[in-house]
Amino acid sequence: MLAFSDVAAVFEEIEKRSGRLEMTDVLATLLKRADKGEIGKLVYIIQGILAPPYEGIDLGMGERFAIEAIASASGYTKAQVESSYKKSGDLGDTVEELFGKRKQTALSTSEMDVGYVYDAMLKIAKASGTGSQEQKIKYLVEVLNNSNPLEARYIVRFVIGSLRLGVGDPTILDALSVAKSGDRSLREPLERAYNVCADMGYVARMFYDKPESISGFHVQPFKPLMPALAERENTPKAITERLGKCAVEMKYDGFRLQCHKKGDKVELYSRKLEKMTSMFPDLVAEMKKVKAKEIIFEGEALAFDKQKDRYFPFQQTMHRRRKHGIEAASKEYPLDLFVFDILYLEGKDMTNEPYEKRRGEVERLFKGPVLLPSGMKMVKSAGELSKQFKDALAKGLEGIIAKDLSAPYTAGKRKFAWIKLKKSYGKAVDTIDAVVVGYYLGQGARAEFEFGGILAAVYNPERGRLETVARIGSGFSEDEMKSFKENLEKIKTKQAPGLLDYNVEPDFWVEPKYVVEIAFDDITKSPMHTCGLKEGKGYALRFPRLVRLRTDKAMKEITTTEEVVDMYELQRSRSA
Ligand code: AMP
Repeated sequence: MLAFSDVAAVFEEIEKRSGRLEMTDVLATLLKRADKGEIGKLVYIIQGILAPPYEGIDLGMGERFAIEAIASASGYTKAQVESSYKKSGDLGDTVEELFGKRKQTALSTSEMDVGYVYDAMLKIAKASGTGSQEQKIKYLVEVLNNSNPLEARYIVRFVIGSLRLGVGDPTILDALSVAKSGDRSLREPLERAYNVCADMGYVARMFYDKPESISGFHVQPFKPLMPALAERENTPKAITERLGKCAVEMKYDGFRLQCHKKGDKVELYSRKLEKMTSMFPDLVAEMKKVKAKEIIFEGEALAFDKQKDRYFPFQQTMHRRRKHGIEAASKEYPLDLFVFDILYLEGKDMTNEPYEKRRGEVERLFKGPVLLPSGMKMVKSAGELSKQFKDALAKGLEGIIAKDLSAPYTAGKRKFAWIKLKKSYGKAVDTIDAVVVGYYLGQGARAEFEFGGILAAVYNPERGRLETVARIGSGFSEDEMKSFKENLEKIKTKQAPGLLDYNVEPDFWVEPKYVVEIAFDDITKSPMHTCGLKEGKGYALRFPRLVRLRTDKAMKEITTTEEVVDMYELQRSRSA
């Protein structure tokens, strides 16, 4: 059994390292020591979660409550804990320090193993209803009473959602491979398995049970896949040069849904892989009519404006993502789902089949009225593609997605299997999705709202880090400014997000939670930002402006550093 004190010691070791290879090796030595029953739980803990997103298990413990628990377990007063926290800026460091000079010796200090700590956290997460905060505090005190100072540091960081080991999913996958085979040779099948079930704990359990079976891992209903992502190009010509004859699909501006069905059971997942089934009874009823017993398919949902006889814009469609008033909303904003892919059919994993074959099944199974095939035309030349693109814009759509006829479904990856061409925003050729990491106070006319804009970051999956790319002060209406500031205030933090690398500091840091779509004129290099930082300069957006909030996108889905670098290169080749 793996003692949690050993886990904590390795976490401390990892925090001191910065190179990915080094981190992988240290992590692998830890993973090697876990047994079959522990590995899944250990992997979740390293990821800073208790379960994959679609399980809906959130620790939900605010700093305030964690402070109460620390006070109770350490024998210090709440005010003393708070004042120490003010100095350290990190609640994990605070609890470690206070436990080091603990006034009250713990009643029982039995050694905790990984399973015990995981189960305790799960108990904290699952406490709900009236009095649940007191329950959560009580459970946390119990664990802390059994913890040494270093263990307490990581337990507290975990429960407040800021474990920030700086270990990204790619590193965990590498480390799993190294732990079992001594090298990275199993990284690829492990990554594929993770991409088709989005559950690293589950993959790790399967892998430890039968390492050789990982290559045969396949798609299963009710284990959502990581969505395939689209690359971008700026011209029809660049697309046809890459793909030759290809399928051009309309790019609908709604929200993406992954639909799973087996017999009578149906589930819907968002692109963040949260379960959305209860929000869309209208779509569930239609899914039950689909002539397939077992199927996973994907589509973009749009709300239809009967009065104007056309689809609503994105903001209105988003009214359907709600927890209350579902019945009324489904009448006001009836949804159509444009199905664009099939990933599993009657027991068969379809992800390795070529697009053409999958598309054939889409057209066979979805004929409307509510579940419709996405609009598609085959094109052979840049001229034909350009015509489709113009048609899409004339219909009020965002653009097109060109699809490689022979490509498999690339779960969780941005590949040239799909290439998007989007309408431009003023001078901008494209937009990026970034996460808000901080905000500024206003000056002059804006001081009234005390909001001066936001600091936004992109994700570097190789390093498992967030890197800043822009400070955005325009594009906000007054109403937007007000409500945005209110929302950001609720997630203010004393310190920069643990995953963030930065050179500039906003007036306030916030949890990396809100994803925003940003338009810009071009990309430059600047010492202010850390995106792709090399020789003191990072990549930065010039004249960035807010397009909209993307509540449907997850932090992990934002634009990557590599994409920003690619866009920079694209822009250089255009101006050359
Ligand atoms: P973007 O969010 O700009 O990277 O564009 C990719 C997104 O476009 C996907 O995640 C889908 O939500 C959406 N989309 C709309 N229409 C289609 C389509 N026909 N095929 C694939 N994705 C589509």
